[in-house]
Amino acid sequence: MVKFGADPFANATKQLHDACDILGIKDEGLIKYLAMPNKVLRVKIPVRMDNGKIRVFTGFRSQHNNDRGPYKGGIRYFDPEGGVEYMEREVMALSAWMTWKTSIAGVPLGGGKGAIFVNPKKEKFSRIEMSRLTRRFAFMISEIIGPQKDIPAPDVYTTGKEMTQIMDTYGKLNGVTHQPGVITGKPIPMGGSLARNVATGLGTAYCVREAAQEIGLPLRGAKVVLQGFGNASTFAGEYLEKMGCIIIGASDSKGDIIKTSGMKMKDLEKWKRNKGTVVGFPGSTKVTTEKLLTTKCDILIPGALENQINAKIAKNIQCKIIGESANGPTLPEADPILYKKKVVVVPDILANAGGVTISYYEWVQNNIGQYWGFVHVAKLMEDHLIKGFHDAYDLAEKKKIDMRRACMAIAVKRVVEAFEMRGIWP
Ligand code: GLU
Repeated sequence: MVKFGADPFANATKQLHDACDILGIKDEGLIKYLAMPNKVLRVKIPVRMDNGKIRVFTGFRSQHNNDRGPYKGGIRYFDPEGGVEYMEREVMALSAWMTWKTSIAGVPLGGGKGAIFVNPKKEKFSRIEMSRLTRRFAFMISEIIGPQKDIPAPDVYTTGKEMTQIMDTYGKLNGVTHQPGVITGKPIPMGGSLARNVATGLGTAYCVREAAQEIGLPLRGAKVVLQGFGNASTFAGEYLEKMGCIIIGASDSKGDIIKTSGMKMKDLEKWKRNKGTVVGFPGSTKVTTEKLLTTKCDILIPGALENQINAKIAKNIQCKIIGESANGPTLPEADPILYKKKVVVVPDILANAGGVTISYYEWVQNNIGQYWGFVHVAKLMEDHLIKGFHDAYDLAEKKKIDMRRACMAIAVKRVVEAFEMRGIWP
C-alpha cells in the first residue's frame, strides 16, 4: 500500500474511491477500471547534444480514459524530487485528473498527460537541443496521439513553442503539412485560439467569483495570496485584481513574499521580468512557503505544483476560499480539515478547467477551420465553468460534502454513464 501523500496516483485513487462511495458504486471491477489509466507509454529519448555527446531522457504519455472523447491533457517538462519512477505515478495521477476535469467542465474529451524528466529552468539547453528533445519525444509518442485520438497541450514549463514543434513533427510523420488539431495551446498564427493563454487563470477567477458570491464575500478589497507565478497563477492574479481584489502574497521557485498593503500585478510582473524572481519586491518580506499559505487572507490560489497543503498547513490556513489553479495542490488528509473550517475549496479539476475548456474550443476551431474572437471564446468557457461550479455547489450543499467530492461525484458519474453506454469490447 502506497502512503497517501507521497504518491500522487494514490491521492487521485483515494479521491476516486470517495466519489464512488458517494455514488454508491461498489463494483470493484468498475472502480479499478476507473482508477487505472488505459495505457501508459514510457519512452527513451536520445538527444545529440551540442557538444557531440548523446544524452538519454525519459518521457511518458499516460492515457487515462477516452469514454467521453479523445484523450486530452498537457505535457510537462519537469524533474520532481522523487525521480523518474515518481514521475510515472505523477503522470498517471495527472491523466486521471484530466478525465475528471473534462467531465466536470462538460467538454466531450477524455484524460491524458505527458511529461519529460527534464528541467529547462534549472539546466541551460540551447534552442536546438530543446527542439531535438521535443521533436524526438513527439516522434516517440506519435503513434498514440492524433486529432481524434489524443490531443496534448502545454503544462509546467512548456509553451506554444513546444506545441508547434510537436504539431510540425506529427504533420511531417503523417505526410500532412498542417495538422493543427493534434495539439492545443498553439500560438495564434499556428491555429491557436484567442484567450487560450489566459484561460486557466481566467477560469480560476470565474470560479472564485462564484464562490465569493455564494458566501457573501465582496471581491472589492478581498485579499489574495498567489502561490506560484507561472501562467495559471499570474492570470488568476490579474483577473482577480480586475475584479477588485488586492494581491498581498506571491511566490515562485526562488521564494515566497508577503506585502500586506498590497502589490499591483503589473509591478510584480515587471519585477519578475527584470530580476527573474518575485523575491525582493520593494516593501515585501520574504517568508517560508508554510507562512505564505497560512497568511491571513480571503482567497488563496495554490498555483504551483502538487502536494502543497497538508494536514498541518490546513489546520493553520486562514482564508475563506481556495481556488486551486495548480493540479493536485491539496492532500486528501487536508480536505476534511478545510471543510470543517468552512473554507470553500474550489478543486483543481474545476478551478483550473478553463485551460482545457478553451483547448476544446481551439480544437473545434481547428476542425471547422473558422476562428472566433476573444470575448466569444471566453464567454463559452465562462458558461462551462459557471455550470460546473453550481452543479457541484448544489450537490455539496445537498449531500453535506466538500466541493472536491461533489465535483468528483458528478465527473465520475458522467464517465460511468459513457462507459456503460459503450460497453466493453469485445
Ligand atoms: N495542462 C493543462 C491542464 O492541466 C491544460 C490541458 C489541456 O489544455 O489539454 O489542465
